[in-house]
Amino acid sequence: MERVINFNAGPAALPLAALERARDELLDFAGTGMSVMEHSHRGKDYERVHDEAIALLREIAGIGDDTEVLFVQGGATQQFAQIPLNFLPDGGSADYIVHGAWGEKALSEAQAATKWSGGKVRVAATTVHDKQYTRVPAEAEIARDPQAAYLHVTSNETIHGVQFHELPKADAVPLVCDMSSDFLWRKTDFSPFSFVYAGAQKNVGPSGIVIVLAKKDFIARGRKDLPKIFQYRTVAENNSLYNTPPTFAIYLIRNVLDWIKKGGGLARIEEQNRQKAALIYGAIDANASFYVSPVEKASRSTMNVVFRLPSEELEARFLAEAKKLKMVGLKGHRSVGGIRASLYNAVSLEWTKTLVDFMRDFAKKA
Ligand code: PMP
Repeated sequence: MERVINFNAGPAALPLAALERARDELLDFAGTGMSVMEHSHRGKDYERVHDEAIALLREIAGIGDDTEVLFVQGGATQQFAQIPLNFLPDGGSADYIVHGAWGEKALSEAQAATKWSGGKVRVAATTVHDKQYTRVPAEAEIARDPQAAYLHVTSNETIHGVQFHELPKADAVPLVCDMSSDFLWRKTDFSPFSFVYAGAQKNVGPSGIVIVLAKKDFIARGRKDLPKIFQYRTVAENNSLYNTPPTFAIYLIRNVLDWIKKGGGLARIEEQNRQKAALIYGAIDANASFYVSPVEKASRSTMNVVFRLPSEELEARFLAEAKKLKMVGLKGHRSVGGIRASLYNAVSLEWTKTLVDFMRDFAKKA
């Protein structure tokens, strides 16, 4: 068996230790004679895994008792619709900050949701007109509505490689954040957020499951006339076991969180992630006549590094030669082209150095 060097944007590389543990436990989980997938979600064997995943997350991320940790399905995309359905009341207004494709989608689903929930949606800031999402908006550019039901922001735009290094300040308006592609990339103070959601498939697990951190008082504000399954209070009241959850995905999240904890927690993860990003951006800047990052320096993403080469032909050759060295997942998103190296938590420093060496050699040769 030979594993590749995986720079996929999501689903993405998972820590080998988390996968090996799943392999070792696959046929006989904890001496029960069956896999964790075959256990009842109401049984004590699965329940232990479920509760451990939540406890690990609380411990690693420092989540307080005022906040629910929830597992929901439908991807972050479903959250784009479910959040306004719950929290945008009839006659109310919600603010959106848009600095990339995912913020656009969140906005568009919120607009669609207003047909059912009433209310309206406002763009508080966008950087679409400014060279098509090459930076995050500055605090002064955010035209906040002090009456807004919430302010929605995407912490890291996965496709455009644009990240908030300092998120907009929380004020009396609840702050809602899509952290799908940079959740747990560093030590984070979650206390300013009323609602954080993150698809697991980048930093914490497989796809199809979303982690939600929601303040209890914010959940309580949600509409009560929605079908139960769409209300966050239902998920919270049932410890994310109202209906059958994706048990294997939660089990894998448990394995990944355990790997984070044993590896030194988020402080260590952050140190590594900063080193990795510095290496790749260093390689871009050292060959600035060959590699071009379209993103303004202060908004460069530590998770998704996007860059262009002088021509599409060279980009195709770059990808093909990288593949020969077992590096995969480097193609930019189809909507923007170019190259994208995703440096999520499971991407090692060694892998990153391999890419940096290749970038230097390729630029020299070309
Ligand atoms: N938000 C962000 C920032 C993302 O990167 C993605 C997926 N790449 C999504 C939302 C959508 O996630 P999903 O496909 O799991 O619904």
